[in-house]
Amino acid sequence: MIVVMKPDATAAETAAVISKAKRMGASSHPIYGSDHTVVALVGDMTQVERSVFDAMAGVLKTVRIQEPYKLAGRTSHPHNTVIDVNGIKIGGNDIVVMAGPCSVESRDQILEVAHMVKEAGATILRGGAFKPRTSPYSFQGLGEKGLQYLAEAREQTGLPIITEVMTVETVQMVSEYADILQIGARNMQNYGLLQAVGKVQRPVMLKRGISGEIKELLMCAEYILSNGNYNVMLCERGIRTYETATRNTFDLNAIPVLHRASHLPVVADPSHGTGDWELIPAMSKAAVAAGADALILEVHQSPDNALSDGDQSLKPERFAELMADLRRIAAAVDRNIATLPTDRAEAVNGLMKETV
Ligand code: PEP
Ligand code: MN
Repeated sequence: MIVVMKPDATAAETAAVISKAKRMGASSHPIYGSDHTVVALVGDMTQVERSVFDAMAGVLKTVRIQEPYKLAGRTSHPHNTVIDVNGIKIGGNDIVVMAGPCSVESRDQILEVAHMVKEAGATILRGGAFKPRTSPYSFQGLGEKGLQYLAEAREQTGLPIITEVMTVETVQMVSEYADILQIGARNMQNYGLLQAVGKVQRPVMLKRGISGEIKELLMCAEYILSNGNYNVMLCERGIRTYETATRNTFDLNAIPVLHRASHLPVVADPSHGTGDWELIPAMSKAAVAAGADALILEVHQSPDNALSDGDQSLKPERFAELMADLRRIAAAVDRNIATLPTDRAEAVNGLMKETV
């Protein structure tokens, strides 16, 4: 149920709604809009009469939410959520490009590619330090060392970092380094992990499971939101179908479907969506045209030698060409490709000069 407060409702009236909900066993999630405050009540509200809240001072009306994803859905939160990652806004008019290698392989590798993707116009650096590999004998990532290298790359370039967290035990540690926590496709329904990232105040990018339905993705986001972390973005990264021509089937439909159902920002990952670097420019452009708020792309200075996902990694020069095309597609849909805040870019350049 959502309780819509009157525009002139006082903070005490909103607090009274929250405490009544608590007495009834529901948890409250207030959303402070420009006109109204809305309180989303979550829990078993089936036995609760709406009139109990309708009669309270400061309440304009109550609405029952039909969809099971009460906090992720648009009914409780009609306006798009915009997530601020160190001054870079995800979910607004500017489309954010996150780029970098599948895995952090060494200090030199991540520092070099970080500068290359920054040069081409990326505003967030990706790189996995904990890798969910199909085989236990494949490269598993550098662990905390990899996180330290990522932090050094952020220091040098000013690019915030996104990296995957795979276990509940490492949530705290990864949060100390990362600007965005990535939940991988294989962990979409790892509810313990979702609850754990719901309890830290770091933005989370939740990837759609390999066989995950869109409504399951939204229910998984609900786990994070209902634990108190409202900075969640949803990522379409391709799903498993009968088609074998590509690694996964990149579900473009998911982008407008998610936007219709939810206020959360939508990120597209054409690298894992296709598994094939040659297809990535076409699907990246399509994702921008379809309304994606951000792209996450794998870029490696030497894809043939990459320790993971080389087949789907763009070389930096191809990535730079793609960025130029993306700017034109973004303009055609009245959007821009996000840039690093100028003051920070300059400050960081200064810092780089000092340390070189
Ligand atoms: C990745 O981003 O490198 C990754 C492992 O992605 P996914 O979880 O979508 O397979
Ligand atoms: Mn990868």
